Amino acid sequence: MASDTNTPKFHIAIVGGGIAGITLAIALMKHNISCAIYEQGHAFSEIGAGVAFSPNAVWAMKICDKTIHTAFEKVATHNQWPSKKNVFFDFIDGTTKSIAEPPATVFSLTNEQGANSVHRADFMEEMAQLVPGEIAHFRKHLDDIAEDPSTGKLRLKFHDGTVAEADAVVGCDGIKSRTRAVLFGDDHPSAHPTYTHKYAYRAVVPMEKAVEVIGDERAQNASLWMGPKSHVLTFPITQGKTFNLVAFQTDEGEWPSSNKLTLPAHKTDALRDFKNFGPAVLRELELTNEDIDRWAIFDLGDHPVPSFYKGRICISGDAAHATSPHHGAGAGFCIEDSAVLSSLLADERVRSHRDLEAVFAAFDAARRERAQWLVQDSRRTGELYEWNAEGAGKDLKKIEDELRNSYAVIWNYDMDKAVEDAKAELGS
Ligand code: FAD
Repeated sequence: MASDTNTPKFHIAIVGGGIAGITLAIALMKHNISCAIYEQGHAFSEIGAGVAFSPNAVWAMKICDKTIHTAFEKVATHNQWPSKKNVFFDFIDGTTKSIAEPPATVFSLTNEQGANSVHRADFMEEMAQLVPGEIAHFRKHLDDIAEDPSTGKLRLKFHDGTVAEADAVVGCDGIKSRTRAVLFGDDHPSAHPTYTHKYAYRAVVPMEKAVEVIGDERAQNASLWMGPKSHVLTFPITQGKTFNLVAFQTDEGEWPSSNKLTLPAHKTDALRDFKNFGPAVLRELELTNEDIDRWAIFDLGDHPVPSFYKGRICISGDAAHATSPHHGAGAGFCIEDSAVLSSLLADERVRSHRDLEAVFAAFDAARRERAQWLVQDSRRTGELYEWNAEGAGKDLKKIEDELRNSYAVIWNYDMDKAVEDAKAELGS
């Protein structure tokens, strides 16, 4: 690799300003690496729902840049009871018919940080303030990327007819990534995510209403309500002012839309789906608005990408490894990606555009196996929660043991070592 000067002389285009794109941009700015974000929306935005981050993700935030961690801490919400400080989730039999409150915990998974959740829009708003206006370009929908043979630069073509140039492109454009399709072709199986045959209802409701119907222990602390063909996650967000609910349902059929991942539904649909659950879960669902969205859970599990890069084009976050959310780790893995990729790009041996393909190769070697494992294990985890996993069924001890093992792989990840290993790969 070139090592003639001390200042990096390349420019990175980031496509997409979700959690993967914005954390990467902030991390690159820390290292004085020139970059720009091209986002199809009119601003950085996220939906009004909760998202949980585990210790690996929090560690990755600190590697990206401590301002991301500060932004996170500003809006993070933990379990409200001091005795539940380390609880990630209390697991509960959601079908318990008794109206005794609170429904008993079957087992708990704990780690040193416990439940660590944010309201997505709040976290994004905090991070958006860390990105200077000149770096962010909105209403830029990527259509294509091609190399300009005369300059060797990559030209990004946007739907509005404009073009931008960069030495490398990182596609952080989510589950329906256009960058992924550009890399492998529109006809490649991995260009299209597949339906996992689960959908989810999501709602955020005032905490006092949740306390009223299920009691303070369950409302104010993270709980996972297991049951056949369905499960529900509940946890506090916005410093305990609101109660976040995600209710998953297995669906034997096909998702009815070819282009929409979210479809309108009604509270009665949710109550019908969960009719075999006990009164606590039904009361939670009763708290939702009459009109409630249904989110299809798609992933890249059937058709994993063969590589995270080709030449000087790379994919990161959901664009590379969209997963079902049953481990609550997809966004955390986006931040892991940003920590590793930014550290590689900042490596002192990376000085010019000629070094960038080697960076992406090292990123692929460092990240692909772990991220694709998550996609597969998350699918199985969804089945474990619903007493439907082969070899475990409704054996709660087996479910607990298996979950402990797989969560350990996610949580006990040494991020510093991951970065060092990736840098060693860069030099090999
Ligand atoms: P996205 O958030 O999808 O961002 C992609 C961005 O790219 C968007 O802003 C989009 O507008 C833009 N874009 C797309 N196409 C183009 C284009 N052609 N040109 C320009 N811009 C483009 N993860 C966790 O860690 N913890 C959780 O608790 C958790 N819960 C979840 C619950 C549910 C129900 C779901 C569905 C997911 C959950 N996840 C969770 C996963 C997490 O939400 C995702 O992994 C994460 O948000 C993906 O971030 P991203 O930046 O890669 O993609």
